[in-house]
Amino acid sequence: MFSPFCQSPLVTRIIINGSKGRMGQALLACAGNHSGLQVVASIDVGDDLVSLMPQADAVIDFSHHDATATVASLCAAAGKALVIGTTGHNEMEKASIRAAAVKIPMVWASNYSTGVTTLFWLTRKAAEILGPSFDLEVLEMHHRLKKDAPSGTATTLLEILGDVRKVQLDEALRHGRQGIVGERTASEIGIHAIRGGDVVGDHTVIFAATGERVELTHKASSRDTFANGALRASGWVVGRPPGIYDMQDVLGLR
Ligand code: NAD
Repeated sequence: MFSPFCQSPLVTRIIINGSKGRMGQALLACAGNHSGLQVVASIDVGDDLVSLMPQADAVIDFSHHDATATVASLCAAAGKALVIGTTGHNEMEKASIRAAAVKIPMVWASNYSTGVTTLFWLTRKAAEILGPSFDLEVLEMHHRLKKDAPSGTATTLLEILGDVRKVQLDEALRHGRQGIVGERTASEIGIHAIRGGDVVGDHTVIFAATGERVELTHKASSRDTFANGALRASGWVVGRPPGIYDMQDVLGLR
């Protein structure tokens, strides 16, 4: 059903990929809160996305990093929008996903919560205001079953800090510290991934100077916050020009 006045459908029909997982289940549970969305299929390992594609306007992918590039190229071939929640992609996978975005609109965000989107914005502002005399460290904690580290959200925070400081992340990053590592250099950015229990996702950015310290923290207590953000993104992205968008675009923060 399409409105004559805009290119996006009145009801956005979605396929959820990775539907048997923790996020897939949260997406299915939350979809009913979004009156403009209809889940037409929920699929997981071994299911055939190609045959289902004609029924949908968009695919939401919360699966495994090695699945996303294929999903993206299938969406590109079928002209369907894509929302990517999956994290942990390697450089080759990221390049394939970017290639697909030449043909279709996609929202690709390491974190779909409104709170974390705000944390991203605040982190950039704080890094710009506080300047190079503040040492930068990022801490993240997740449940014991999480497969990738550091988290996609922590990686986005590090990219923001690296961008503001104008440093190459592969040179600046310190993943934990062990042994006689020597004094901290001014240019390094520390990252520490903690795993345990059922923690949904905690992230803290520390700005530490002589005499004072600023800490920005976000704690997620329910996966519904990510699910509702991704569902909202799927309604937003259909009908947009091809390209890669993030949650700041969806929330109108640009
Ligand atoms: P999970 O392990 O509970 O679920 C993943 C699901 O994907 C499983 O059901 C698995 O069978 C399925 N899967 C694996 N390979 C597949 C394939 N080739 N095709 C289809 N399905 C496949 O993991 P989760 O906690 O639900 O997280 C899923 C992903 O989402 C992870 O990468 C995680 O880091 C990410 N995540 C992102 C956000 C965000 O806001 N962007 C929030 C939470 C989790």
